[in-house]
Amino acid sequence: MLRGVGVSPGRRAAHVARMASPIAEPASTQVLPEGERDSAVEAIKAASEYVCDDLLAASSRATGTAANILAVTATMATDPALMRAAATHVREEGLIAPRAVWLAANTLAEQLTALGGNLAERATDVKDVRNRIIARLTGVPSPGVPIRDEPFILVAHDLAPADTATLDPSAVIAIVTSGGGPTSHTSILARSLGIPCIVAVDGADDLVDGQLIAVDGGAGEVHTEPDAQTVEKFQQTVSAPSTLNGPGRTKDGHAVALLANVGDPAGAAKAADMGAEGVGLFRTEFCFLGRETAPTVEEQIAQYTTVLEAFPHRKVVIRTLDAGADKPLPFVTADDEPNPALGVRGLRTSWNHPEVLESQLEAIAQAAQATDADVHVMAPMVATVAETKDFVAACARYGLHNAGIMIEIPASALRAKDLLGEATFASVGTNDLTQYALAADRELASLASLSSPWQPSVLDLIAIACEGAERHGRPVGVCGEAAADPALAPVLVGLGVASLSMTPRSLPAVGAVLETLTLDECRELAALAREAASVEEARAAVRARIPVLETWGL
Ligand code: PEP
Ligand code: MG
Repeated sequence: MLRGVGVSPGRRAAHVARMASPIAEPASTQVLPEGERDSAVEAIKAASEYVCDDLLAASSRATGTAANILAVTATMATDPALMRAAATHVREEGLIAPRAVWLAANTLAEQLTALGGNLAERATDVKDVRNRIIARLTGVPSPGVPIRDEPFILVAHDLAPADTATLDPSAVIAIVTSGGGPTSHTSILARSLGIPCIVAVDGADDLVDGQLIAVDGGAGEVHTEPDAQTVEKFQQTVSAPSTLNGPGRTKDGHAVALLANVGDPAGAAKAADMGAEGVGLFRTEFCFLGRETAPTVEEQIAQYTTVLEAFPHRKVVIRTLDAGADKPLPFVTADDEPNPALGVRGLRTSWNHPEVLESQLEAIAQAAQATDADVHVMAPMVATVAETKDFVAACARYGLHNAGIMIEIPASALRAKDLLGEATFASVGTNDLTQYALAADRELASLASLSSPWQPSVLDLIAIACEGAERHGRPVGVCGEAAADPALAPVLVGLGVASLSMTPRSLPAVGAVLETLTLDECRELAALAREAASVEEARAAVRARIPVLETWGL
């Protein structure tokens, strides 16, 4: 049995398909004799056509965005500029075919990056086809997500964003990685697609292609030699409900709003379709990523209005820009901070760039006027009462009176009793709260065992934050990844959390589990978890008391 950090629940048994190793830069020393250069150029052409056909075939098997991405990448494989440049490297410098393709593709990628905007994004596609052509030329497995006739369990060190864009949940039925952390890109994507996933699995690199394994995403366990009974049990698990059954509530009717985390208008539409009661976290920085300059007020109004329109008369919490650390933006963040996670990030970027916050508040106010959503505004990474006061006052200047704060720093959890005297609500960002409570970088796979919101110390901080807010009758929600864990969600409710915001895909399972427990039972679970001395103890004690987790394979 291998263990890791279960980041997306569900049980599956199937054969392993390993992600091929990355393509290394081909050596540069060999020079081709004149007589062999024409055939090298022909080989490049043939390999490119093969890659193009392969991607087109994959595109015709896929649907939606994935089909488009694959079709566009396919045309890049035989791009005339790329072919010409590679042929020139072979004919004029005598480079071997893989080396010529490597250099030609890199030059093209650099040119695209320099052009900026949408074209810059194509640079990744060029590098992707470069690797595929070189794999064909050198006879090694093609990089990227493997293609198999049967559904399989994908095993990798970690997945690149480009790989995950084309993941097909009917082919990839579970994911196991040796790298990655609970809030890494892979984890967030797996949860949003509903694919059971375990990251930071010690020993995953020893799993071999074709090996039968059984994966329990909820428990974070990989059975490497499952017996027939385990395989049958895992293949026959009754899936958890996949649609929401009305507003969130416990068995005895205590309301717990089930909200969605969204990053753009498309995400908001999807969340509304899934039946989310509103938006608990709109990460506005996703509208800013990849830009050299701040968007105009008009551009922001357009984006925010579309998000708000998806939720008429519903609560939508718009978080102001959270740039810095893992989300640097050139127009507000310095690139020379020795320790960016502890640097000028979140609300702090407004100290040097007040105009960016002002433009956001103006755009939010105008979008709110134009729609009838119940707009709330929230600042990320708030630490002190003074920051809270300043933010609430800035919101008020734009007529925005529902101004809240994120509790992501232990200081703000401990002093919620003061901060919530100013702000009208709070939302706990468990991803950062865990990072700062445990002093463990949330991006680092080697610290994944520390980076768990099940840490009793993190649960204590959430409890203290809820008690502090309660003094002012202010609600506290959770919008970090913890809210999407169907075993942890009832614990959070028991700690006093009023709403849970998560990737829309996780809403049905969390809602269904909550309905099996009374509020008092949630409180007992919270007490059990806080009494535990470790993550494992807390999780095991709570899971043992929620039988539906086993039934539904969560
Ligand atoms: C968090 O820190 O938990 C959070 C929700 O914010 P983000 O993940 O965007 O930092
Ligand atoms: Mg955060």
